[in-house]
Amino acid sequence: MKQVFSGNFTQQEPIPEAGIKAAMEVLQSGRLHRYNVGPGEVGETALLEEEFAAYNGAKYALAVASGGYAIGCAMRAIGVGPGDKVLTNGFTLAPVPGAIAAVNADPIFVEVTDDLVIDLDDLAAKIKRTGATVLLLSHMRGHLCDMDRLMQICDAAGVKVIEDCAHTMGGAWNGVPSGRHGIAACYSTQTYKHINSGEGGILTSDDPDLMARATILSGSYMLYGRHRAAPPAEAFERVKYVTPNVSGRMDNLRAAILRPQIADLPRQIARWNMLYAVTEEGLRNTSGLKVIERPEAEDIVGSSIQFLLPDFTVAQIGEVLKGCSARGVELKWFGHAEPVAFTSRYDSWRYASPQSLPNTDRILTGLMDMRLPLTFSVEDCALIASIIRDEVAGIAQSD
Ligand SMILES: *Cc1c(COP(=O)(O)O)cnc(C)c1O
Repeated sequence: MKQVFSGNFTQQEPIPEAGIKAAMEVLQSGRLHRYNVGPGEVGETALLEEEFAAYNGAKYALAVASGGYAIGCAMRAIGVGPGDKVLTNGFTLAPVPGAIAAVNADPIFVEVTDDLVIDLDDLAAKIKRTGATVLLLSHMRGHLCDMDRLMQICDAAGVKVIEDCAHTMGGAWNGVPSGRHGIAACYSTQTYKHINSGEGGILTSDDPDLMARATILSGSYMLYGRHRAAPPAEAFERVKYVTPNVSGRMDNLRAAILRPQIADLPRQIARWNMLYAVTEEGLRNTSGLKVIERPEAEDIVGSSIQFLLPDFTVAQIGEVLKGCSARGVELKWFGHAEPVAFTSRYDSWRYASPQSLPNTDRILTGLMDMRLPLTFSVEDCALIASIIRDEVAGIAQSD
């Protein structure tokens, strides 16, 4: 009898009791809008911003409606406009090129390496070739590139870096938290990320004018005085007449749900990394399967795991997906020619100019991805790994 896994890859944990209690208080008060506070009262959203800035070591933080909104807002706040070229990863998720398209700029895709990070040689070449002055760097699936070298390349060329930290909240490179390298960082708090408010996003930066613009863009109706992790009033004076209001605020209900989750992040990260280690160990030394070796300098948050089947044909990969799925293991494949659910490839984003990334094509063709929700146990992860191992070995042998 073949073993079958019966868990659910999209089942997250409940919201912590403290979050539920705080959310009920917000509901009872009726004051859900972030600026709907009594005299002297500090709203949940302002407190969330303050606590997240402290957690990450950023000077300023702004809570918004989604991760994608945070990215678009950051780009507008540094002055990206129609027709501008914005460098970004060829391997990322649709909201990233989508945010570039939302400001009518043109994404320039950069190759991915076999370690699933941005190819820094290709980045340097494309900075030179295109003259682009902004990089929207996506730490896709939580993989951090050599951030020291990346910043050297970008600083030397005068390229501003906005970090998409949707998958790296709580991660670090050489001890520096993810999101603390570039001029701004964007986080998502939607259900499948590291803290869960259904939808939501957070933007951080140390740049006062950037953050003043972002705050007004997000829809502060000149009530920016009610923010706490915000730049001083002078910064707002400099930008307030020329920055449009493009509402995308967070509300007090979501902020109330999130605050206890920030406090709990270190514990959750340790749990994710335990699941990741067991899964990785179970997959290691499977013939035909390549695990992604994580660099010493990287502090990971193992909320998902990727592996490569570099020599498998498309038909063989189809067999692996089918075999695993029949045994309850839901793998995602980034090689699909058609965009499917959360997986898609750069050549499906046809609002961008057509581009050719031969290395990315090769890598995505063999790239498999799996979520590791915290509702899984260590035993679940060992079972999942052994099922994948079985199915991959079965296909490799049948040739
Ligand atoms: C989830 C995600 C975002 C932002 O997503 P929202 O759904 O807008 O919060 C950005 N980049 C990546 C890589 C993501 O996975």
